[in-house]
Amino acid sequence: MRHLLSTKDVTRDEAIALLDIAEDMADVANREVKKLPTLRGKTVVNLFFEDSTRTRVSFEVAAKRLSADVINFSAKGSSISKGESLKDTAQTLAAMGADAVVIRHSASGAPRVLADSGWIDAGIVNAGDGTHEHPTQALLDAFTIRRRLHGSGARGKALDGVTVTLVGDILHSRVARSNIWLLTTLGAAVSLVAPATLLPVSTTGWPVSVSYDLDAAIDSGPDVVMMLRIQAERMNAAFFPNAREYSRQWGLDDERVARLPAASIVMHPGPMNRGLEISANAADSAQSTVLEQVANGVSIRMAVLYQLLSGSAA
Ligand code: ASP
Repeated sequence: MRHLLSTKDVTRDEAIALLDIAEDMADVANREVKKLPTLRGKTVVNLFFEDSTRTRVSFEVAAKRLSADVINFSAKGSSISKGESLKDTAQTLAAMGADAVVIRHSASGAPRVLADSGWIDAGIVNAGDGTHEHPTQALLDAFTIRRRLHGSGARGKALDGVTVTLVGDILHSRVARSNIWLLTTLGAAVSLVAPATLLPVSTTGWPVSVSYDLDAAIDSGPDVVMMLRIQAERMNAAFFPNAREYSRQWGLDDERVARLPAASIVMHPGPMNRGLEISANAADSAQSTVLEQVANGVSIRMAVLYQLLSGSAA
């Protein structure tokens, strides 16, 4: 694997291999010395043109646990036009000898531009591009689901037959897109539940079923309910009447979470709008995997950096 730009490019075998390597990486986190010498001498650049808490820190911890050098480059606030600034920045990073660039950008496709440009000879990891994709989020979600379902016997397994319902702002969600491709590649059945205004105009070609009734979806007892954040920063119009109306119809409130089967899990990629798409009790319930997702994110990003930079499978 040279770059990680989209989960659409990841085969089932590659996905299972990454999840298995992440299991090994998770074991490292339980050791007294949480560090491997694997990427000593390699330089990983975190190039973030958009805000992030979890993802940036997670990649930094992951790279450091593998003994790579990490440079954090926050390009926010640059006044240069985006095309020029990406090229200039990439060439600067190339001159500094970056081996991998982890990029987050508000423009969908920016990581692909970087990978195809020839401006820099480094492994490119998409850490979220506009409304397009966020592959490591989907991988950590798949890892979290697999662990909850199979516990310590998870290695080698896929997600065949697992039912996953994604709820909310599908339209603006790169997390949803990456999950749709990856989870179906791993054999899960994915359904979308959202107001029509927060669905893409067409979902033709997406391997999903679509519905508009959250209560019916909850009563069907899915294995996984993944709530998505309302992406207010990407909204330039009113997509729903008001916050109270949204949470009444589309929010995972206490009553809905109580109706889920006890074994179902509740996921959210963060940051959460508590009280809007998810209630505080639902977010903090035993069924919620929100903090596990954060912890698993480090293991997944270690696995991805390892695959990209060590040049061979484990
Ligand atoms: N943190 C995720 C992302 O960057 C999800 C979100 O922001 O809602 O896409």
